[in-house]
Amino acid sequence: MDAGSLAVNEREKSIIVKGKQKKQLVCDTDSAAGCVSQRACVYCGARVVLNPVTDALHLVHGPIGCASYTWDIRGSLSSGSELYRSSFSTDLQEEDIIFGGEKKLARAIDELVLKHHPPLVFVYSTCIVGVIGDDLEAVCKAAAQRHNIQVIPVQSSGFIGNKSAGYRAACNALLRLMGPEPTPTRNLNSINYLGDFNLAGEAWIISNYLRQMGLEVNVTFTGDSRYETLIKAPRASLNIVQCAGSMHYLAQKMRELYGIPYLNVSFLGVLDTTASLRMIAEHFGGSGIKQKTEELIKTETDKVIPLINGYRGNLQGRKAAVYVGGGFKAISLIKQFREIGIDVVMIGTQTGRQSEYETINDLVDEGTVVLDDANPSELERFMVEKGAHLLVGGVKERPLAYKLGAAFIDHNHDRKHPLSGYEGAVNFAREVYSTVCSPVWKYLKA
Ligand code: SF4
Repeated sequence: MDAGSLAVNEREKSIIVKGKQKKQLVCDTDSAAGCVSQRACVYCGARVVLNPVTDALHLVHGPIGCASYTWDIRGSLSSGSELYRSSFSTDLQEEDIIFGGEKKLARAIDELVLKHHPPLVFVYSTCIVGVIGDDLEAVCKAAAQRHNIQVIPVQSSGFIGNKSAGYRAACNALLRLMGPEPTPTRNLNSINYLGDFNLAGEAWIISNYLRQMGLEVNVTFTGDSRYETLIKAPRASLNIVQCAGSMHYLAQKMRELYGIPYLNVSFLGVLDTTASLRMIAEHFGGSGIKQKTEELIKTETDKVIPLINGYRGNLQGRKAAVYVGGGFKAISLIKQFREIGIDVVMIGTQTGRQSEYETINDLVDEGTVVLDDANPSELERFMVEKGAHLLVGGVKERPLAYKLGAAFIDHNHDRKHPLSGYEGAVNFAREVYSTVCSPVWKYLKA
């Protein structure tokens, strides 16, 4: 990498080209000063993890902008309450910043609890609350006693780190909800599914597979979860972890506290879905479960492979750039693109870990650019240099792709179509085909 050509030289250590450098990519650190990082903030990291808890009241203690930025931030579906789709804020003003916002927060909790009667309130701390030092812990404790419900502070103020710190703050809030004691009874064949946010009903697709295998999902963290289901999480006999970036910490803590083992899984793409289902069946071991799993895999793959191969014929030889939140998704996407004949030429994440980048590096072809915590100018530069035909990313990357005249695939938490499991793999192939092969690209001016 030619550091001189990067806007900020410090970024050089977080970008490698496979085959050209032997150095280890630097990741999981705070963003370089002076870069407009694509990463979300600490509070946003916490909010995206907790937002799908459907019957919780989500109260943002901060200026109105923090709440509006994350309003209904996920495409998570609910089978019950819709309370989670509202964003409540204490709307801190100049006077509150000077004299403190604790009284305003206490009043807001009282008013909202009387109006909505939630069983649970999450109170999120934002940047300014970290600066003025409001005591969220004390305000939430007093409110919990007044209303006899759980009022949990989420310690997600800015300056405590990056988006990963927000994930940890959310996991700590969930751990408080479950309590420190292991449960005396365990449900055999019962699974907690960590790191699925039920975007467009994805958690329901996977729960349905597991049911067909003879297993039961105890609770999903946090897609379509409720207070009552979350507190029963320690009863499961296995945790499966999909979004490891946000939920690895929770899985480790649950193993420590409640003795629940965990497996890392991915239900993105045919290959990873099949491998994950087999891994789960292997964990439970009974021949009945294994047989049902093989039957399920055969039925589903027989159905979807001809459809995916149909799209593959039109996509062979195209090049993809990927910039997503976590490492697990990036790893699965490399394999999923191979399934449809596309090479990944640039790939990066906001919060990937060292071990995930090592796997990415093993999977990609020579010459692929791998980068952590990128900024728009880097994404633009490497997409152009590598001749990418499409970019996979989230809401912040979409305009960048279109400005470059490249196709865009939304793989973010606010999408409204399922990409998980076998049917998700077909949706993905169809979406890539319809955007990459759209006639609109003919009308681009050079
Ligand atoms: S918490 Fe801080 S960085 Fe995040 S939205 Fe609010 S002001 Fe912006």
